[in-house]
Amino acid sequence: MRKNNLKRLVFAALLLFGVAALNLYFFYFKMLKKEEEAKRYAIKEEVSRLQTILDRTIDDKQKALNAIALALEFDSNITKRVAAGKIPENYAVSLMQQLRRFSNYKNIWMQLYDKKGRMLFYQSWVKEQDGAGEIVRMPFPKRRIVDYIDVDVYDLCINSLLKLQDERGEGVGALNLKAHFNSISAELTKYGIDSVVVVDKTYRTRLSQPFTNKFIGDYYIANLDASKEKLDFLKNLGVDRLMRPGYLVIGEQIVLSYPLKNREGRSIAYYILFENAASIVAKLEEKTFIEAMKIAFVTLFFVILAVFSYEAYLNRAQKRYYRSIIDHSRNVIVITDGRQIIDVNEMFLEYFGVDSLKAFVNSKKRCLRDYFVKEEGYLDIDEAGEKWFEYVYRNPNKKYKAKLDIEGKIYYFLVSVSKVKADEMLYSIVMADITTEENYRRKLEKTAVTDPLTGIYNRGFFQERLKEELLFAQRYSRPLSLMVMDIDHFKKINDKFGHDVGDRVLVEIAQLISEQIRPSDIFCRIGGEEFAIILRETSLKDAVRAAKKINRLIRENKKMLVPVTVSIGVVEYIKGESEADIYKRADYALYKAKTSGRDRVVIG
Ligand code: GH3
Ligand code: MG
Ligand code: MG
Repeated sequence: MRKNNLKRLVFAALLLFGVAALNLYFFYFKMLKKEEEAKRYAIKEEVSRLQTILDRTIDDKQKALNAIALALEFDSNITKRVAAGKIPENYAVSLMQQLRRFSNYKNIWMQLYDKKGRMLFYQSWVKEQDGAGEIVRMPFPKRRIVDYIDVDVYDLCINSLLKLQDERGEGVGALNLKAHFNSISAELTKYGIDSVVVVDKTYRTRLSQPFTNKFIGDYYIANLDASKEKLDFLKNLGVDRLMRPGYLVIGEQIVLSYPLKNREGRSIAYYILFENAASIVAKLEEKTFIEAMKIAFVTLFFVILAVFSYEAYLNRAQKRYYRSIIDHSRNVIVITDGRQIIDVNEMFLEYFGVDSLKAFVNSKKRCLRDYFVKEEGYLDIDEAGEKWFEYVYRNPNKKYKAKLDIEGKIYYFLVSVSKVKADEMLYSIVMADITTEENYRRKLEKTAVTDPLTGIYNRGFFQERLKEELLFAQRYSRPLSLMVMDIDHFKKINDKFGHDVGDRVLVEIAQLISEQIRPSDIFCRIGGEEFAIILRETSLKDAVRAAKKINRLIRENKKMLVPVTVSIGVVEYIKGESEADIYKRADYALYKAKTSGRDRVVIG
């Protein structure tokens, strides 16, 4: 039963663990998928953040440029000089120098046009014709200021084109401010974003005086601070791959291509941003791991709880099962831990006449051993000691019969003791009631050795015991005497008073002698009106004295129904004699007593 339970328990635990592990596996799988999704989402988020930053930075720069252009217009000299079509060389140069000194914009360039679009002032590297006619195509008059990105011979530029007008609002020409992308890239590094500005290779020929002089193939790199590492990265990856809007995740890096468009909406360059995505991904992974661990622990907790509950359930079921078994047993069952009674079954309560174990423990005889009766042939509780059940347990092959006196009634039990658990001090004492069988056996045994008329031992027993006692006396050199007696003229009593009276006389004589002899003497009826006494530990002298006493007692007894006398032969055992020898000697002595006048003791 226990082994089976253990198997079932192990099986249940394994099954639960299996299910839990499978669950966990699927959960983790799902989590990973989710994590993947979350990763993609986080990256998208990051990309849009990058775009926003870049957008804003470029926009800020553009607006600042517009603001500077508008501020320059307030120098009325500009408008006048453009209207006049003549710009003094020093004037424009000093204006630019001041601008650079008082602002963050170190790379701002100015160009001035007349109303026909002719360039009035320009930097030395710009050829006159580069700007010619541009102004004519400007979307003035609707808007006074137009900003755009374009590529000139020198660099990729942000432009701010302002229409200059006189007091009457008549257009007199235009002012164009140009800024490079270096300052924008510098701004981005503050956000921890590396960047490379790559100009479309179709502008390679136009860029006759490239500012940075950095190229990857025909692609011009417009920011001075583009790191060698990133440039190498682009070279290895192939710049072409990045010359389209979108982003790639390469290793732990997000690489974003942001298009820079000219007035016609054509992507003339790409702002390529680099962002390390490792921290974003790591955070997600960590979260997934922690979640998985949480789930694992919770699952483990529930599995353990389930297994323990199941075990508790089995234990309870098992207990109930045992309970029902012991309660339905016809035997008296006692469970003890060696110090006290732990449990008893219903049969026990019935036998001991109590309602509960508590009632038993509180009774006068609180201990099972107090009910034992000491008798030869039965479990000797004193000899077995305090823990008599351990004594019985240690001798499992012996049959222990116990005699118990429960409230004045005698019971006989067959007692067996086993351990409830091999490694525990928990014993179960099982007592099978054998009272009926034992009483019958005892009765039979008694009948076999006793004389039914007088109740003393019979001839068979006499012969048996004589043999045993002779052996003992011989082995230990102890004295032993034998007395045989015969009633004198008994025939006459029968004839005179009838057989019944004869019987009663026999009973009276047996009683008389029984009262007279010692407990160690073995008194037997060995024939019709013949008796014998085996006198243990008795010399001839003492035996003769006893015989004479009996002889006199019977002769002088007044209570007897009929006055009788007996003749007695007495002998002492001679070493080496057989039971036949000694009996013969005693019988001969008796014969002598008869022949020499009866009612006397003769020593043989
Ligand atoms: P003696 O002195 O020589 O012994 O004379 P006795 O009459 O006793 O002679 P004996 O021993 O030969 O006779 C025994 C008689 O005892 C015979 C029988 O009638 C009688 N007797 C034997 N057994 C019983 C018995 O169980 N009951 C009765 N009433 N009489 C018995
Ligand atoms: Mg006789
Ligand atoms: Mg006789």
